Amino acid sequence: MNAEKLEKYRVLLEELAARVREDLVGTSEQAGIVELDTAIGRLARMDAMQGQQMALELKRRQEQQLLRIDRALKAIAKGSYGICGRCRKPIADGRLSIQPDAVMCLKCAGG
Ligand SMILES: [Zn+2]
Repeated sequence: MNAEKLEKYRVLLEELAARVREDLVGTSEQAGIVELDTAIGRLARMDAMQGQQMALELKRRQEQQLLRIDRALKAIAKGSYGICGRCRKPIADGRLSIQPDAVMCLKCAGG
């Protein structure tokens, strides 16, 4: 991959990281909200707890994505970016443009 392309993906990755970090702030708040507030009814509390579970799951995924982005940025620095972690073939540009933190080619990720 040439330097121009690497720079493009580096920018994409940093934009993505900024966005995910921003989302993570909101998700972390949501994940921490449910207190046993007796003012709300049992059903409302169950709703809130369900929402909290979903927020926790989302938070976990966002944190993993940040780790992936971080690894991708390091791979750019090392010159190993865009190589499938399984079959070692280059990951298609189309895929990386949409998902710059992809660690596997479409074929390996799908199968
Ligand atoms: Zn592959």
